[in-house]
Amino acid sequence: MTVGVLALQGGFREHAAMLARLGRASVEVRGPEALDGLEALIIPGGESTTIARLIPRYGLREPLRDFCAGGRPVWGTCAGAILLAREVDALDRPGLAAMDIAVARNAFGRQVDSFEAGVELAGVGGGPFRAIFIRAPRIASAGKGVEALGRLADGSIVAARQGALLATAFHPELGDDPRLHEYFLSLGGVNARPAIG
Ligand code: GLN
Repeated sequence: MTVGVLALQGGFREHAAMLARLGRASVEVRGPEALDGLEALIIPGGESTTIARLIPRYGLREPLRDFCAGGRPVWGTCAGAILLAREVDALDRPGLAAMDIAVARNAFGRQVDSFEAGVELAGVGGGPFRAIFIRAPRIASAGKGVEALGRLADGSIVAARQGALLATAFHPELGDDPRLHEYFLSLGGVNARPAIG
């Protein structure tokens, strides 16, 4: 499976490194044509305002929205989750509005308030995931078709899935744990599964 990583700004190299560790080829996406042969796409963390400004400049807004609607797995981490969200508190331009979640940017404070927490993730076995939060968003609400996969002790949703769309408020590409990347890659099978009945 070839996985694309949106490479306009932010932590795309770290995702590519984690994928390589799992033996997966990845391509850096900087234009619509790069989306063609992909089986899955990661939108990395970084600065959501910057990425949202660059997406239309690279002709990617409609192609990315189409990709998200097409059923192939798409994973937004941190700023990437902000870009996937249907509704964002304080983003000064449109994101992709592809996933039925509302997020609040910088919900846990500033850069100095970055933290790590063990998060139990539904569908990811092997104990709590050591999640790294850097000026992270909070998933403030999620629509009916969205499953909350992980929460902080205070109840904040920090990982969610809607079909093959995955959003995490934290940075699984940092650190040493490939389980969430493996989980994401397994979502390809979600689409392949025939409808029941
Ligand atoms: N605070 C950033 C934003 O709103 C996201 C931070 C991150 O991706 N680590 O875009």
